[in-house]
Amino acid sequence: MTDSDEPTIMQPFSVEFDLEQGVMLDHTRYLARHASDMKGHYADEGALDALVSDGDPLHYEVFDVPVPEEYGQLLYGISKVQAGLVGDECFMTKGHYHTISGTAEIYQCLRGEGYMLMKTADGKCAWEKMSRGKMVYVPPHWAHRSVNTGAEPLITFYVFPGDAGHNYGDIEQEGFPKRVFKRDGEIVIE
Ligand code: ZN
Repeated sequence: MTDSDEPTIMQPFSVEFDLEQGVMLDHTRYLARHASDMKGHYADEGALDALVSDGDPLHYEVFDVPVPEEYGQLLYGISKVQAGLVGDECFMTKGHYHTISGTAEIYQCLRGEGYMLMKTADGKCAWEKMSRGKMVYVPPHWAHRSVNTGAEPLITFYVFPGDAGHNYGDIEQEGFPKRVFKRDGEIVIE
């Protein structure tokens, strides 16, 4: 056996989450998306432009861990989607496929109310309700996006294979077949 065949032994570590606030206290990687990052994703472009002009509010944040993005590793973290509407469409994440499409993901909802909206490349669409205690299994080959239908942040813990990667481009082109609206207090998926 040569040196290159030896597995790299990583040091175990732990991180601290505030599960009430939905933040990782000592995160080393952090992503924040505001209204201006969401162009092209909502049905009502004018309403999004108005939001961007009106303070460009935060849409969602992702806190994750310093794990190498490679086979055998598990990437995990916290996703926190703010409550709000663009026109009458609920705040949501951009959504993505995995670059290695045949990789699954688990989302454990910790707080808030919403949906995991999913679609396949051949146009199938599905959604699962998210509320405290619900764990959603996103099978391989399904693009996925979190949608906040509630009045407080939607906070989820996620974990997926380290080498999966994110493919935002395809879903940006395709969009999702369904959108989630709140009209007169009622949730409408259409
Ligand atoms: Zn994913």
